[in-house]
Amino acid sequence: MFRTLRIFVLLLVLLGVAVGNWLARARTTSWEQSLRVAVFPIDADGSPATARYIASLTRETFAPIDAFMAAEARRYAVTLRDPVDIEVAPPVTRLPPTVPRGGNPLEIALWSLQLRYWAWTNAQYAGPAPQVRMFVLYHDPERVQRLSHSLGLQKGLIGVVNAFASDAQAAQNNVIIAHEMLHTLGATDKYDLATNLPLHPIGFAEPSLDPLVPQRFAEIMGGRIPVSPVEARIPDSLDEVLIGEATALEIRWVE
Ligand SMILES: [Zn+2]
Repeated sequence: MFRTLRIFVLLLVLLGVAVGNWLARARTTSWEQSLRVAVFPIDADGSPATARYIASLTRETFAPIDAFMAAEARRYAVTLRDPVDIEVAPPVTRLPPTVPRGGNPLEIALWSLQLRYWAWTNAQYAGPAPQVRMFVLYHDPERVQRLSHSLGLQKGLIGVVNAFASDAQAAQNNVIIAHEMLHTLGATDKYDLATNLPLHPIGFAEPSLDPLVPQRFAEIMGGRIPVSPVEARIPDSLDEVLIGEATALEIRWVE
């Protein structure tokens, strides 16, 4: 009797989680109200330059993401004028759990739970709770040349982005933040993981351009602008990025 009850309770909890995930997905992609996104800056290296850069961040720093989402939504005839509303949250002082390197699916699943717990305990926000939380780890470009990978999780609606703490990199940081934010809304990568080259047609902004390359824009989940059959470059800013039909379908901008 007790055992049955225990199993019943466990099933209820699992059902609750499943319903919670389903509701979050339905709410974040209904596009009836602006999606509330908060950027939580994190000082990744303790460098004075990083601290100064974080102190200079305002809503304006991330406004190009709002503008990009609004312009692209209009192209897909979404009636909501401002699909995304990004705010800057107070900096988080503790680092998120590090992604397991080459982890197996179980390690990844465990890490994703740790990350959600970490976010729950560390992300303080005054005002209406953000629906999507983007944790941006800032690195001093004088100290690191290459950044580790960024990611966005649909379950938990959390993104972890590695970015350079510099005004010169802000526009490119916004491309990465937008990409990871779209992962949280259910968009998938559209590039070849081995070569980083966008997949045709889904990872191309203009898949029927003739000749096909060079392309003028990157598709946001394709990540790069194909310039030749074997080369693609990272866009400088969101001005060089579009949302393709496959991504629009995933985030429910089209039926
Ligand atoms: Zn991605």
